[in-house]
Amino acid sequence: MKPLANRTEHLAQSNIRAITLLLNEYGGINLGQGICDMPTPDAIKKGAHKAIDDDKSIYSYYGGIDRLRSALLKKCQEYNQIPVRSEDEIMVTVGSTGAFVATMFTLLNPGDEVIVFEPYYGYHCNLLTVMGAKLRFIQTTGPDWKIDFEAVEALITDKTKAIVVTTPGNPNGKVWTRSELEKIAALLEKHDIYAITDEIYEYMLYDGREHISLASLPGAFERTITLSGFSKTYNMTGWRLGYAVGPEAIIEKMGLLSDLIYICAPTPLQHGVAEAFEMDDGYFDEMASSYARKRQLMCSTLEEIGFLVPWPEGSYYVLADFSQLRNRFSGFEDDEQASLTLVKEAGIGTVMGRSFYDDDADGANCLRFCFAKEYDVLEEACRKLKEAFPPA
Ligand code: GLN
Repeated sequence: MKPLANRTEHLAQSNIRAITLLLNEYGGINLGQGICDMPTPDAIKKGAHKAIDDDKSIYSYYGGIDRLRSALLKKCQEYNQIPVRSEDEIMVTVGSTGAFVATMFTLLNPGDEVIVFEPYYGYHCNLLTVMGAKLRFIQTTGPDWKIDFEAVEALITDKTKAIVVTTPGNPNGKVWTRSELEKIAALLEKHDIYAITDEIYEYMLYDGREHISLASLPGAFERTITLSGFSKTYNMTGWRLGYAVGPEAIIEKMGLLSDLIYICAPTPLQHGVAEAFEMDDGYFDEMASSYARKRQLMCSTLEEIGFLVPWPEGSYYVLADFSQLRNRFSGFEDDEQASLTLVKEAGIGTVMGRSFYDDDADGANCLRFCFAKEYDVLEEACRKLKEAFPPA
């Protein structure tokens, strides 16, 4: 038989999802894939039920239903301070992953170079590779994940098309500061490049940190596609609803491409999630304090056990270094072994550090823990961890 398309050659099960499959086999608590399995707010669920009962069941406009785009327009202006002027600069997508795909199809030709910061979210890189883009990496290291902007500028060539910025970061929880984003904005302008920002964890912030959208900085909007979604904020990862915000000419092409690929995001679910914007702002405060408690429990437990823990500034992941555990326990030679050891000895799923680096060796001492769990489940997970790996 004739071979499949070249782009399928390197496709493999992601390490993030692999841990979920492994846990299905062994049992245990999944602190690996960021599945966010707390309940979806009632108002959203009811909204979707009602839309289904009312037969709001036909395709929507490819960019999404009007009500949702209007609500997003206001949210992006008020929360993100993005100088977005009309609904035509906003499109609803099938997950923020759908938004990322549409952005890449719209901006990139094969061979274009894209700058990505390590540790990265693997789906960004794998999708960029499928698109035929050339990845250029800038490594950052904890606990402060500082960026060497001279190194970033040195990577820019006339083939550089875009920079990917994930804030708050997955897997490291880095929240980009205004001054860092200003430096990126200056590079976009100076070298005529685009930014793709993934801001899906924009409401998960700790220690009084503020979420700043790159597109809110002077001059940056015209060159930035801002991506976010509802999955994490409202515990609805399986609904697959996200969105993109950017200049109208770019969003229009992204919408046309999404139309070709999937026509629109599921209409009744769009009606459901539109109800989120009628909810009280107290929702965000409650979420923030609940995540702060979970971060405290997760990170202090890992520290007690002997992990080196760069406490995340945002998001709900922590990328912890287990190298000091080697003196006391076996099964921690590298991240692959460590991840398996945690499943077998403690019944806890985590994601291998290598999943977030180009060179596997760079992630060999780390595991990513996701603490987006119900508090009692997280307590149980921490208890199991401490039982299997008693603090010294
Ligand atoms: N974003 C989530 C994570 O990083 C899950 C997405 C996925 O399954 N790829 O774990």
